[in-house]
Amino acid sequence: MKSYWTIVYGCQMNERDSEIIAGLLEERGYTRAPALEKADVIILHTCCVREKAENKVYGKLGQLARLKSKNPDLIIAVGGCMTQQPGAAEEMRQKAPHVDLIYGTHNIHELPNLLERVSFLRQPVASIWDTEGEIVEGLPHRTAGGVKALVTISYGCNNFCSYCIVPYVRGRERSRRPEDIVKEVQELVDDGVLEVMLLGQNVNSYGRDLPGEIDFARLLEMVNGIEGLRRIRYMTSHPRDFTLDLIRTLSRLDKVCEHVHLPVQAGSNRILELMNRGYTREDYFVLVDNLRRHLPGVSITTDLIVGFPGETEEDFAATLDLVERVQFDNAFTFMYSPRRGTAAAGLPGQLPLEVKKERLQRLMELQNRISRAKNEALVGREMEVLVEGTSENDPTQLSGRTRTHKLVHFPGSQELIGKLVQVRITQAQTWLLKGEVVA
Ligand code: SF4
Repeated sequence: MKSYWTIVYGCQMNERDSEIIAGLLEERGYTRAPALEKADVIILHTCCVREKAENKVYGKLGQLARLKSKNPDLIIAVGGCMTQQPGAAEEMRQKAPHVDLIYGTHNIHELPNLLERVSFLRQPVASIWDTEGEIVEGLPHRTAGGVKALVTISYGCNNFCSYCIVPYVRGRERSRRPEDIVKEVQELVDDGVLEVMLLGQNVNSYGRDLPGEIDFARLLEMVNGIEGLRRIRYMTSHPRDFTLDLIRTLSRLDKVCEHVHLPVQAGSNRILELMNRGYTREDYFVLVDNLRRHLPGVSITTDLIVGFPGETEEDFAATLDLVERVQFDNAFTFMYSPRRGTAAAGLPGQLPLEVKKERLQRLMELQNRISRAKNEALVGREMEVLVEGTSENDPTQLSGRTRTHKLVHFPGSQELIGKLVQVRITQAQTWLLKGEVVA
């Protein structure tokens, strides 16, 4: 019986893929290895959204080369977004000749067969599909267990934001049929799941490629009707496609959490246009106002890119101004990283690293101050927390999330893990709230 180990980079889409990879392998008799060093097969499921992510993969492959020299029977497989890029497989063969199997984003269901081929042929194999093909339903999956689960509702993206590699490596947008999604959520709930995260590159355009009247609002209504499910989250929302109809629907559905991750990316209209985002900062302000009006207490988080090609100090000041005006609960901030084959990689005015770093620093300082102030405003409030486990750094503390996706640590019995509890917030930090269980 062979054992496997997976190393996952990047977003929740990849996390979900890796659950399917684990399910496929276990169906074929593989078991999860107790440690990386003990595995017969090591799978790296990669990300290519930034250059840093790719460098990490090559760094890890360098470490694995030592393991492979000690154990020549070890099979190393690399797949996902990074290998799906044109020319990436050849590059990997040259840079990391000890990799035995290279697969893409569209054929993870082939993985067990490809691994068998590698064992049989005793030579490297590469299989990358150019096009996405039909959605394969009913694949086995192995989740980490617990009360939360990821559910993919659509694959790929049609937007072609000028900096983004996703449409090239994940293909065009394909929505899963609502009945398949509802069935999967129902099965998860039957297994004890209380919270699902519905995943898509742009959940707001869900269903446009399906026949009939289905859209994201209708899908949420269907999922909201599943008995036993307590919380629904979704990610990622595109501001251009976030309609008032959807906001009204969200306000009616009791299980949909009051948290919207709404990447704005930049605060300058000139840069937003160069990014091909399809909205202006004024549109974004209107959307935020509507969200806050219809969903009282909603938390709004975002993604921001600094140092996009041609970004002037004035453009950057517009981003800082937007952040100050919107008052995000939290933001993921990134330095622009050119991705081969994207429109932005060819734009003039690529900025020096030093400029990007300095802007990132200023942006993070501003956002950290806002995040902390937002958290401090919650001290004294009672909030519902879904207890997910214990704190990584302090096992005496339980750890969970509010409906607004705030991380909360508090002392309590391990029996509370997996339960919804009321917690009074006693202390606030930038990334964390501390509290006590309300008797
Ligand atoms: S919406 Fe834009 S940024 Fe998001 S995945 Fe699609 S192309 Fe990339």
